[in-house]
Formats: sequence, structure tokens, C-alpha cells
Amino acid sequence: MNDPFGDMPVGDFRREAHRVADVVADYLEHLEEFDVLPRIRPGEVRAHLQDAPPEDGEPLETILADYRRWIEPNVTHWQHPGFMAYFPSVASGPGILGEWLAAGLNSNVMFWRNAPASTEVEQTVVEWLRGMLGLPDTLDGMLTDTASISSLLSVVAARNAVPGLESRTQGLAGRPEIGRLRMYASSEAHMSIDKSAIVAGVGTEGVRRISTDAEFAMRPDALAAAIAEDRRDGWLPFCVVGTLGTTGCNGIDPAAALADICERERLWLHLDAAYGGIAALCEEKRSLFAGWERADSLIVNPHKWMFTPFDASLLLFKDAEAYRSAFSIVPEYLSGSTVDAARNYSELGLQLGRRFRALKLWMQIRYFGRKGIADRIREHCRLAATFAEWVDAAPDWERTAPVPFGLVCLRYRPEGEADERRLAALNRRILERTNAGREVYLSHAESAGRYFLRVVVGNPRTGPHHVRRCWAILQEAAAAVHR
Ligand code: PLP
Repeated sequence: MNDPFGDMPVGDFRREAHRVADVVADYLEHLEEFDVLPRIRPGEVRAHLQDAPPEDGEPLETILADYRRWIEPNVTHWQHPGFMAYFPSVASGPGILGEWLAAGLNSNVMFWRNAPASTEVEQTVVEWLRGMLGLPDTLDGMLTDTASISSLLSVVAARNAVPGLESRTQGLAGRPEIGRLRMYASSEAHMSIDKSAIVAGVGTEGVRRISTDAEFAMRPDALAAAIAEDRRDGWLPFCVVGTLGTTGCNGIDPAAALADICERERLWLHLDAAYGGIAALCEEKRSLFAGWERADSLIVNPHKWMFTPFDASLLLFKDAEAYRSAFSIVPEYLSGSTVDAARNYSELGLQLGRRFRALKLWMQIRYFGRKGIADRIREHCRLAATFAEWVDAAPDWERTAPVPFGLVCLRYRPEGEADERRLAALNRRILERTNAGREVYLSHAESAGRYFLRVVVGNPRTGPHHVRRCWAILQEAAAAVHR
């Protein structure tokens, strides 16, 4: 007899879990039968979902049938090899299985005491990743959900480290005796940096954007000049954010030069290598990041380019105490939970409850091995470099940025056309036509006043024929649009 107040009977759970495993395996097996972008208008899915929750429970079979009919085909398929927009967010097989196991345990990784094994798996995975990236054990770290949150925590820790500011206790408002906080990021840095500034009380005007060079890397001379000018004008500089692999076109700020400036000026150095940092899994790419180990905080996102199911961001820092002193509050009802000698992750950030993200990474790293993961990243870089060669050889196309990783930035530029507005309009139409075909999905960006298209190779399911096909589709679209 089923307990009317109990959970799903475990026998039913076992049966349905096998069924769900089949649903997911079928999805992955037949992924390419879907268009990468579903043919759907806003509101269409909702029209097929019940208006109100059912009064009495329904069989899982019915629920799964609706899932397969309305939900599965109508997502944009991030797992699809034709998804080459934005940066990748791909879930590997072992990563998915790790998520399932974590869901079964539902371990809430607050303190060692209430999550001992999960805490220690997280410590192990952080150390593994640090070593795999060629980083020294002077860096400690933890997993968060996203780069946005890793940056926010770091900006708050940086703010907390400003001598005499006492922002944790006194806040920032109504204190004319302190200067306005100022942080620095390149004109190409991700908008999550502005969001961190908004939440940390720095404000978007407190973020000074620094110009970049011809390869979209922050200019250290411009940074040094900006800091000097701000100090003269009464601002309170406290943090520099460097980006190693900018979102638009993979500019790589010079980490060592930024570290020199930050040491001299006594500023916190935060490095956002959310996407690009994964390339450091390949030894031959590490020179691009020279000096990054000197950062006070550094982000690399396994959920971007290491085929780890969303979400998982690695936040490394020099000094765990800087985060603990910024965030730790241990009320009486939790005081018995902390064990002094152990890692109590929730003390280092905003969240009390934390997901057991480390398990999927532990499984995935063991399944593929360090070399297996690095070889896949290498293959993406090779495919992107090949694509770049095709672009360079095509008379009416131009590459708009270097290709250090898996991102190729390009635009159609027919001979004799120099007007930026007309070029932007032309490439916008090429992008619309390409995405309307739904076989591949691309995105665009704008840097240095130029609109361009972005092709990102970063999915272990993407092979040479997908990349060739993408190039052919782009050429067909250009020919159709520019008739
Ligand atoms: N930093 C960079 C350089 C990015 O490209 C992105 C997103 O693409 C982010 C941060 C934000 O990442 P998340 O979605 O993990 O917050």
C-alpha cells in the first residue's frame, strides 16, 4: 500500500528513473534531428501547459509524454552541434550522470558538518582543476553557480579589503568622508562586472572602462593613467578587473602588467577567464595567461567550455580569509555546525545553502581524464583555426579578431565596401538568414565600431563536418543577401 503522505514509492521511482534515462539517451542520440532553434513563437508552449496545477496527482507516464511533446522539442538546443552562438554550455554524459547522483543525495554543502563528503569532494575538485590549469597551490577556491556570482563575491571581498573603509559594518551611504569607489575594466569586459558594481554599491559610474589595443586587450598605460587621474580627482580606486578571453572577440588582457600595476597601487586584481581560462588545460596555451597566478581572484567556468552541465564556476582566490571576513556570519542556531579545522564553504560567500556541484566535475574529470579533456579543447581550437583559415582565404570575408581559442569573429565585406553602417546592415541580414535556416545558430557582437558575426566551436559533439557546413551556410547566406 502506498503511504498517502509519503514520497513516490521507491519501486516506482526505480522504474521511472530507467524510463527517464531512456528519454535523455534518446534525446542525445537524436539531437541532430531537431533544428537547433525551435520553430516556435512566444506563448506557444504555455498554450499547451495546463492553466492550473492538477488537483490530484497524475501518472509519470502522462507527465513524461507531455515533456516529450511540448518541452523537449521546443527548447533551443544548447547541446546541438550546430549551436555555435554565445559561448558553449554543453552537458557531457558523465556530467549529466553526476547531476543525477547529486540530485539523489540532495546534499546541501553549507558546512563540513552537514556535508562532509560533499565538502571534501569540492576541495578535491578545486585542487584538481587548479593543477589541471597549471596554477599554483597558493590559490585556494570554491565552486559557485556562475561567473557573475564569482565576480560579485570578489568585488565585495575587494571592497571589504579597502583599509579603513569598514563597508561591511558601516555601508557606503551618507559617508562624505570616504571617496567614491572606483574599479577598472576594459571596454570589452563582460556586463556582469557592471552588475557586480551595481550590487556592491559602486554603481555603474564607479566602473571606469579602459581602452584596448588593436587585439582588444586592455592597455596598461591607459589603466595607470586613469588610476592616477582618479586619485587626483578624489576617487577611491580599489579593484581592477582583467578579462582573459573577452566575450565579444576574445581579447586577452595582459595579466602580468595588470598585476604589476595592482601591486604598485595596492589594488585588488580580479581576473575573469570564465571562457578563455579553460584553454589553459592545454600546456601550449598557458603563455597567453602569463601572470594570472598573481591575481587576488580568478574565475574559470567549467560550464562554459569544459562540457560540464550548467552550472559550475570555479572561483580561485589568494586568501580565503578575505572572503570569510567579507561574508561570514554564524548565528547561534548554526554555531555547532562549523568545525574549525574543516572547510565551511558557506562562510566564504553569500549563499547558506549550496548545490553539490563538485560531484559532476569529479565524475567527468575521472571519466575523460585530464588528457582527454585537454585533447577535446585542443580539437576545438584546431577546428576554429581551420575556420579562420577559410575566412582569411575568402576574398569577400574578413576576420575581425585573432583566434586564440574556439571563437572566430568574421564579417562579410565585399570588395570596395567601406561604409560601416552598410556593412553592419549586410551582416545583420546574413545572420538573420543563417539563423532562419535553423541548422546552425550564430550570434554577433560589435567592437571598435565594427559589427561582426561570431562562430564558436566548443562542443565535443561538433566535428569537422559541422564546421564545414557552417561555413557553407554563411557563404550561401551572403550570396543570397548580397545579390
Ligand atoms: N565573463 C565572461 C568573459 C563571459 O563571456 C560571460 C558569459 O558569457 C560571463 C562572464 C558570465 O558568465 P555566467 O553566465 O557564468 O555568469
